[in-house]
Amino acid sequence: MVQAVLKAAQDHGAGKVETVYVRLGQLEHISPESLEQHFRHAAKGTGAEHARLVCEEVAGRARCRACGAEFDSDLRPVVCLHCDSRQVELISGLELEVVSIDVPQ
Ligand SMILES: [Zn+2]
Repeated sequence: MVQAVLKAAQDHGAGKVETVYVRLGQLEHISPESLEQHFRHAAKGTGAEHARLVCEEVAGRARCRACGAEFDSDLRPVVCLHCDSRQVELISGLELEVVSIDVPQ
């Protein structure tokens, strides 16, 4: 993740990063706090070392391939709440991605 952030900063012609905006799916079972800790550790000594991390948490959501129902889910594997099918795909909740960054002006 730090690599992606530094690469994006480079694309902006910046060596330092001020803020990092992240989408974090709740099914990843990573708290924003531990993500931040991990980030701090990984970014040490880089231009992102002092960046602020802003986490947007994304709820788990699933769609049933059998009956087409969509519903919230905080579990996986998932069983459809409507027809008990196991042919359920997760459509959100597994994100761990850098959305954008701010660099100093
Ligand atoms: Zn179903």
